Amino acid sequence: MFITTDRAGMVARSEAQATGALPPADVDPLTGVVARQAFLKRLETRLQSEATPRFALLLVGVDDFRAFNDMHGHAEGDAILQQVARRLRDAAPRDAIVGRVGGDEFGVLLTSISDPTLVRHVSAAILSMLSAPHELNGRRHHVLASLGACVMPAGGDTTSDVLAASSLALARAKHDGGRTIRFFKPQMRTDVTTRLSLVQALREAYAQRQFELLYQPQVDLRDGRVLGAEALMRWRHPTLGLLTPAAFIDALAASSVAADVGMWLLHTACAQARAWSLMFPDAPRVAINLFAAQLSESRLLTEVRHVLRALELPPDRLEIEITETIALQQGDEVSDQLQALRRDGVTLTCDDFGTGYASLSFLKSFPVDRLKIDQSFIRNVTQDNVDAAIVRSVISVGQSLRIGVVAEGVETAAQRDFLLANGCIEAQGYFYGRPMPANRLTDYLRNQPR
Ligand code: C2E
Ligand code: CA
Ligand code: CA
Repeated sequence: MFITTDRAGMVARSEAQATGALPPADVDPLTGVVARQAFLKRLETRLQSEATPRFALLLVGVDDFRAFNDMHGHAEGDAILQQVARRLRDAAPRDAIVGRVGGDEFGVLLTSISDPTLVRHVSAAILSMLSAPHELNGRRHHVLASLGACVMPAGGDTTSDVLAASSLALARAKHDGGRTIRFFKPQMRTDVTTRLSLVQALREAYAQRQFELLYQPQVDLRDGRVLGAEALMRWRHPTLGLLTPAAFIDALAASSVAADVGMWLLHTACAQARAWSLMFPDAPRVAINLFAAQLSESRLLTEVRHVLRALELPPDRLEIEITETIALQQGDEVSDQLQALRRDGVTLTCDDFGTGYASLSFLKSFPVDRLKIDQSFIRNVTQDNVDAAIVRSVISVGQSLRIGVVAEGVETAAQRDFLLANGCIEAQGYFYGRPMPANRLTDYLRNQPR
């Protein structure tokens, strides 16, 4: 699909984009489109040209560009940005101005279009053009993009307001799963304000010790014995009651409190593991979930070692769960730290396996001890052939690599039977127990058959 402004019937050729005619300083050296400062200058000119400006600003962001860069290297990342820029210039109307406004973000200034339906047409054409696979060095890459659109005059009076408005729309598009278009609405500004006060509240919650850990048993499916327990966070909110992670975990993970909460969590879970190891000869291993923020700290390795030593907890009583998405965002240094912990005897598990970006190649560069099958595959495993096939293949990947496989979200005997019949012998789920306070799990452990 190729849309020109002729079709829109509104051509303003005087502003036509022709980077060949631009002073070199106004051109982005990598991609050949208008450089950020020059782009903002044009946006400003456009804003000042009329009392009520009628134009639209599209912000196009490459989805998961950082993960792509980490996986394929910067040279291929640069090549992708060049191809994206070229496609943008081809897909945009002739009088549009295409510029690079951030590392992996491009702006498209639709100088003469402010009709939302037309803006949607142009945006859809751009995304469809960007979604074709990219050929690089004989390999095909599927790189997708999201788009945030701000149709004037809704965006505000200044360049920074308008840019912020399209950024909010782009962030929403990415948040909603990527490869999609969102239009700026003033409501988005208040949503962010709400999120900011949530971050404030989370900081307060940490200071006031309102976070708690519950423990969910992981059992041997053959006899129901507890082998481990996953520590799961709750927020005991002073007025709202006990909140599950769905209400706060994304905001927490993205905030500056995450690293501190993560450390608290590590200490608390290890102290609990130590308490159980003193009570039971076959005490459960305790699994914790890591925030990305904890991984980007070079002190993860020293911190974990310090906690284990201080609590005299054998490393094999600790399990670290990490999603492939989080792991992929990290560099070699993080991977080295986690591998060092593995050599110490800590169990490393790939969480939500199969829901992320590149499961199989991931396992090569990032060896783990266990794969955890996400509950989304278990939910309908006994009725849905595709889910059943996915679960069977994850189990067989685990068997081929000689690593453990644990299923999450087992709620019925039929699901347990399916897993057992297909060679998965460990699981957690409501069928065996919900996340519970540590003392409840202690009772549970006391009463299980020896
Ligand atoms: P997750 O790591 O995939 O954790 C498993 C989630 O599935 C937990 O939800 C658990 O309660 C739920 N679950 C377990 N068995 C069943 C079942 O049979 N049926 C159903 N419907 N659900 C089941 P929860 O506790 O709400 O945690 C949600 C997510 O929040 C976790 O997903 C994890 O990504 C995050 N999270 C929770 N606690 C922590 C934490 O301490 N640190 C970090 N970084 N993330 C956490
Ligand atoms: Ca987990
Ligand atoms: Ca999961």
